[in-house]
Amino acid sequence: MAKYIFITGGVISSLGKGITSASIGKILESRGLKVTLMKLDPYINVDPGTMNPYQHGEVYVTEDGAETDLDLGHYERFITASMTKFNNVTTGQVYNAVIAKERRGDYLGKTIQVIPHITNEIKERIKKVGSISGADIVLVEVGGTVGDIESLPFLEAVRQFGLDMGKENVIYIPLTLVPYIKCAEEIKTKPTQHSVGTLREIGIQPDILICRTEKTLSNELKEKISLFCSIRKEAVIENKDVASIYEIPLIFKNQILDEIILSHFKLISRPSDLKHWEKNVVEKALSPKHKVTIALVGKYIALQDAYKSIYEALIHAGIANDAKVEVKKIDSEDIQKYGPKKFLNDVCGILVPGGFGYRGIEGKIKAIKFARENQIPFLGLCLGMQCAVIEFARNCCSLNAANSTEFKPKVKYPVISLLEEQRKIKNLGGTMRLGAYPCKIKKNTLARRVYSKGLIYERHRHRYEFNNKYRKLLSKKGLVFSGVYPKENLVEIIELKGHPYFIAVQFHPEFKSKPDKAHPLFKGFIKAALEKQV
Ligand code: GLN
Repeated sequence: MAKYIFITGGVISSLGKGITSASIGKILESRGLKVTLMKLDPYINVDPGTMNPYQHGEVYVTEDGAETDLDLGHYERFITASMTKFNNVTTGQVYNAVIAKERRGDYLGKTIQVIPHITNEIKERIKKVGSISGADIVLVEVGGTVGDIESLPFLEAVRQFGLDMGKENVIYIPLTLVPYIKCAEEIKTKPTQHSVGTLREIGIQPDILICRTEKTLSNELKEKISLFCSIRKEAVIENKDVASIYEIPLIFKNQILDEIILSHFKLISRPSDLKHWEKNVVEKALSPKHKVTIALVGKYIALQDAYKSIYEALIHAGIANDAKVEVKKIDSEDIQKYGPKKFLNDVCGILVPGGFGYRGIEGKIKAIKFARENQIPFLGLCLGMQCAVIEFARNCCSLNAANSTEFKPKVKYPVISLLEEQRKIKNLGGTMRLGAYPCKIKKNTLARRVYSKGLIYERHRHRYEFNNKYRKLLSKKGLVFSGVYPKENLVEIIELKGHPYFIAVQFHPEFKSKPDKAHPLFKGFIKAALEKQV
């Protein structure tokens, strides 16, 4: 039977609960235990797929095609388990399921209530992940902050879960903020006391407390927190700001968090081994030999979370090339207005990420033209590939009016368009081409060289496709179609001959990059950028 660890958030949001959860997963996995993680999200959307990136940040896509919270991306980057549609549960999904059961008559005439029907549904979903994953330990991250109205049913379910499974099988870990007040030169524990107090009022007594802090917590301070929150002193864990998120598992290990957890669960396992991680990830991330600047030309550059997996994949590619990757974030609308030169003159690589809608598209196309003409390494992702096709059609094939039907439904040269089956779909939620699809790679191409294999699986999240009507013309003019989804003959990868690194893909490679195993497309991109520099 699996053991369960619940991680909740206190005081404020954005404390890094996802990374903290993933890091705990990492140290437990390093002891030979089978670990999985899941996220409970209190919002009413069924999934984040329909939310604006400014509302929610990146939508992370799993291998099985679920549109999920970006924390699942952290989980997959830190531990080996694969996330599935069951690893992210939202209020929307829970209510959907309960209401469907009620309509079917499954509840035999009962009044349906938050307790027990909603809380039972939540508990069942948590147990399901435990049983289908076969994990020794399931870490459950509860979204939101303690005290929010909408997270109450989840916390109640989590409280009951401890009661059902027995104390020895469940651990509660709140993550709180211990702020440093600059003008008073003091670290304050009161917000933590209050937030743990709120949790205890709900009936949850934490076993371990993780404190986010700018400054080192003294022994005295830990004692104080321990006393007020009724948590053993050694179980008050410091989570100080770090230069690289990949250091956090090491910081937890130094405070024997793995030991504390295992002794609570009465589990015996081999000692933890994080040497590979320390040497090949952390040390490389902290002291790289080289440095390179890459431009990311996007629409949501103001929000760090909107392109989370891309930024991480660039860090991983940096680690693999012993380089620090500096990302110059450029609003594509600025390039549209002022031209590419002003912004792209000093970069060694240009990346155009995914996105939706026409705003900023012309700027992205200008940036791609600049990369093509000036031999600057270019990586296009999803919408980035579609823009590269439009650019090539317009500027190299004299199809001046070329566009995607997403931006101009009645366009003369629809080089990117909808497939028949997408045309019939009316609902927005969960109706794109989603999840992993196979792609065959042509021999003697750049794609084949970077992947060093002929068949790959990559994750998708888009509606529009390359329009095969234009394949002949574009390839005659020099565009190489190096990857195809064979079953439906859909273009997956395009590239240019005679350019140091010009490659764009219809899928999202960023979702499969790991800190100790950079994605080949990103690794090749950074390598080419470094070569451009010398
Ligand atoms: N908007 C484009 C489509 O739906 C690209 C999507 C994306 O970049 N994820 O096909």
